[in-house]
Amino acid sequence: MIDSADVVIVGAGRLGAATAYYLTKQGGLRVTLLDQHEIGSQTSPRAAGMVSCLRKSEIMITLITDACRKIEGFTDETGQPLDWVGSGSLKIARRPTDADVLQEDLNRGRATGLDVELISPEQAGALHPFLRSRGIEAVLRIGDDRYFNPAQVATGYAAAAAANGARIHANTRVLGIDIEASRVMGVSTPMGKIRTGAVIDAAGAWTRMVAGLSNINVPLVPTRQQLIVTEELPGAVADLPMIRIMDAAVYMRPCLGGFLWGVYEEHPRFFDMQSLGTDFDIKDMPLDRAVLDAAAAEVADQLPVLQTAQPREFRGGIPTMTADGHHVLGPSPDLRGFFFASGCNVAGLSIAPALGEKLASWIIDGKPGIDLSCMAPARFAGLEWSEEELQRAAAWQYRHFYGAV
Ligand SMILES: Cc1cc2nc3c(=O)[nH]c(=O)nc-3n(C[C@H](O)[C@H](O)[C@H](O)COP(=O)(O)OP(=O)(O)OC[C@H]3O[C@@H](n4cnc5c(N)ncnc54)[C@H](O)[C@@H]3O)c2cc1C
Repeated sequence: MIDSADVVIVGAGRLGAATAYYLTKQGGLRVTLLDQHEIGSQTSPRAAGMVSCLRKSEIMITLITDACRKIEGFTDETGQPLDWVGSGSLKIARRPTDADVLQEDLNRGRATGLDVELISPEQAGALHPFLRSRGIEAVLRIGDDRYFNPAQVATGYAAAAAANGARIHANTRVLGIDIEASRVMGVSTPMGKIRTGAVIDAAGAWTRMVAGLSNINVPLVPTRQQLIVTEELPGAVADLPMIRIMDAAVYMRPCLGGFLWGVYEEHPRFFDMQSLGTDFDIKDMPLDRAVLDAAAAEVADQLPVLQTAQPREFRGGIPTMTADGHHVLGPSPDLRGFFFASGCNVAGLSIAPALGEKLASWIIDGKPGIDLSCMAPARFAGLEWSEEELQRAAAWQYRHFYGAV
């Protein structure tokens, strides 16, 4: 174990590993990446791996478009494998009010140069043989959307960071943050102390606990997200468009000859990570099949296949939600040298390449290169939420991820 580093990153999920890679690439810094479990083993590999390009703001569209370029060039750039498919997607409104949202999406997509068009329910059915047009009000086709294998990204970035000189330690928990005169001086681990002037809290579901080691309170909520991968189904080919049904918040994409699908629960389950014990592993998170069964029933008219296809895998993870639906990225206003890379709002896997690069610039140059004030931890200054208020706002952001009214 080394005794000093320029930057210590706590958490080797997708966000921490991408940041480690870009720090080593841009800065030639001595970077150490620590994880309490195996590298890339917690929420990141359990995601759906869907990339949604049509975000709610121009800045998010700029970032995700950049992330798409990095996903396309991932193997060339890092030498690591990444399986991805440019399938496009169909965003489906079943209510007139949601159809109005699709019209706004169309305008915003066109203004930002995305490949978007409104198509009829029948055209959508022709593009996707498992989709029935009954009950569909409007459909937006998004040609830029894609999906990738979620298990390859955190490990790929970590390996590429290691090749650039980063020190990587799995099974090494950060137990304390050393502070002097309101600035970070180092971290403590069971293997000893590491002196450093910069710590990045990329601890995913555990972000609040790591921040709490410095007495910083960050308002985000660890939230369960679950999905099913079905058995192989004749005709479920890899390049069928992904589907998102807005009001039901159900998504589906091709996977291993069948489909992967899930839902943003109406009443999401939140976790207090502290109460789960120090050795908790995301693979032991309690799953609830009834939530998925109810979601399948809700979209039975459009996706009857979800009623009949047998699952081959049922999995879930614990992403983090914020009250305003934005990440938490950048320097803490409360402690010099302490940075966040968290608050993914269930969309952190796809956008992480862009955010990792911006955070690396923020640390090296003192600014991220574009205006990321919507994500900056400083936006919470002076705001006080009770836990109940925070959870209520986070639950709304979670269920309305597709912009349904
Ligand atoms: C079912 C599901 C579907 C999803 N679908 C999508 C999708 O389609 N598209 C998308 O973009 N996103 C999706 N997501 C969200 C995505 O998975 C997350 O945004 C992303 O994985 C978050 O990465 P992370 O690095 O913050 O967290 P993690 O991958 O959990 O990494 C955090 C790491 O920090 C480590 N850690 C914590 N505390 C400490 C400590 N004290 N010391 C050392 N290490 C520590 C943990 O062990 C862990 O490995 C989905 C998530 C789920 C669960």
